[in-house]
Amino acid sequence: MTTPLKSSAQRSQKAGGASVDVIVRGGKVVTMDKDRRVIDDGSVAIKGGRIVAVGSLAEIDKNYSARETIDARGHVVIPGLINGHTHVPMTLFRGLADDLDLQEWLTKYIFPAEAKNVTEEFVRVGTRLGLAEMIRGGTTTYCDMYYFEDAIADETQKAGVRGVLGETVIDFPVADNKTWPEAMAYAEKFVRKWKGNPLITPAIAPHAPYTVSEEHLKQVRALSDKTGAPVVIHVSETRKEVEDITKQKGASPVDYLARIGFLSNRVIAAHLVHISPEEITVLKRLGVGCVHNPQSNMKLASGVAPVPQMLQADLDLGLGTDGAASNNDLNMWEEVDTTAKLHKVFTMDPKVVSAQQAFEMATIRGARALHLEKEIGSIEKGKRADIVIVDLDDLNQTPFYNIYSELVYATKAGDVRTVIVEGRVIMRDRDLLTLDEKDIKARARVFREQIIKSLAPSTTQTGKNRTGGLAQSPSKRP
Ligand SMILES: [Zn+2]
Repeated sequence: MTTPLKSSAQRSQKAGGASVDVIVRGGKVVTMDKDRRVIDDGSVAIKGGRIVAVGSLAEIDKNYSARETIDARGHVVIPGLINGHTHVPMTLFRGLADDLDLQEWLTKYIFPAEAKNVTEEFVRVGTRLGLAEMIRGGTTTYCDMYYFEDAIADETQKAGVRGVLGETVIDFPVADNKTWPEAMAYAEKFVRKWKGNPLITPAIAPHAPYTVSEEHLKQVRALSDKTGAPVVIHVSETRKEVEDITKQKGASPVDYLARIGFLSNRVIAAHLVHISPEEITVLKRLGVGCVHNPQSNMKLASGVAPVPQMLQADLDLGLGTDGAASNNDLNMWEEVDTTAKLHKVFTMDPKVVSAQQAFEMATIRGARALHLEKEIGSIEKGKRADIVIVDLDDLNQTPFYNIYSELVYATKAGDVRTVIVEGRVIMRDRDLLTLDEKDIKARARVFREQIIKSLAPSTTQTGKNRTGGLAQSPSKRP
């Protein structure tokens, strides 16, 4: 570990130059701009939440003076990571049911656990837990789909994190809305309330083609047309989904969604595991944002998405963790590492999905997947100042040869030091500034007890150590 002195905040002593809010000074700046510039001794000037200049340390020192200088010398400065798909409150279900396929996991465990436990308070506590974990790992933007999304937006804004947040609409009664018209009314109100917020992009999230009818999917498209809101959905996650939709609709999920006019360049589709070369062409033609979730797909044994072909077609392809109940963490460093390795072993070709391509999927290509590439995903003048400072000299990173290899194969979430979103420091030298870690853990553990109780068959509630049939309880919690 480096000495804390190295990146502690200091008041700038300089008087000359244009005045800005913050200068991230020194450090190896990995811009992820069009030319993939890496500036060895670089600085970034930030004003009003946006990047006003990126250049060499000498150049920025000469032209700018800041209210606050963050010393990044000896560290690497990267664009904030983008988690393209998750269900953030589900962190409270982390480890509740493992080692199952999607259908069994969802219908026997997750849907019943949600029906018995999800309230606005549950969502708030789970969101704070997930946000704290994501900030610690250098994630500055995430795309979510869940219930009570208005509360998620509120917590996300308070924590200072950026989110594309989709209110889930689905064809059965759920925690926040009991009927389809209620759910659509909630979604519209939610979108109108948050539209234009600098951090929150409100979205509509029909769960999947197998849980939302054709008529309802068309209504979602119409609401998206009316409000301009993005649409978040799961597509072609499992072989069973493809078989069922093909049987019912006479087309695979992507073709079916294209045929009914659902797909557009406002859609963000997660998974896309079982898709053909023709479907890749359709996704490219319609400008659909795509999100690969390698660890969740591996854990649920859903399959392996054709990522090398998707990259070859230049799809807007990002990376996501999916919910912590199917991963079981929200760590984007693991997703980039897994992405670069999974496709090599699956194709038996070590040259597919390079470290740089994997890192692009977590940054600039991930921004394209969320249709936010004009705002985030790279360190460039004019973009939002979402910037992460990462250690570069931990044992697992020594010695250093190639920056993308170092970031993708060797760096861990624990190497993230300081996190800035919209120009605001939300973690400094590993100290979370907007969230109370101790309180979050205590509240999460209270929910754990409640969840276990809610799922225990009544006949097993007698013994003191019984936790019910579902939770494989870590009974020796310290
Ligand atoms: Zn998901």
